[in-house]
Amino acid sequence: MALNIAGVCPACQAGGVTFSWTQCFNRSALTRCRKCDKALESRLSLATYLLMVVYLQVWTVGGALALLAAVLGGAWLWACAILAAFYVCVAAPARWLRTLDVRLYNPLAL
Ligand SMILES: [Zn+2]
Repeated sequence: MALNIAGVCPACQAGGVTFSWTQCFNRSALTRCRKCDKALESRLSLATYLLMVVYLQVWTVGGALALLAAVLGGAWLWACAILAAFYVCVAAPARWLRTLDVRLYNPLAL
């Protein structure tokens, strides 16, 4: 089962536009189309961004405490499960959210 978290380039309609997951927690993420090499941007609305930040904070605090307890207790399988859950519940949806609104990068737009 593959989760499709790739968007479509607005210039050449090529699929496979992805944003790096380290950028996905910023309000605005940049990437380049692999086919036409145009700069692409995905910008979240303020409400969506604030919701994501709160969700990320809850996950970071809860996940960090659980991860610390698992590592200190030597429960490595449990620690891996927490990291996998973080990816599935936070990082993958954040990347998917980017692909909903891919537009050409315009440095003059706010
Ligand atoms: Zn393109």
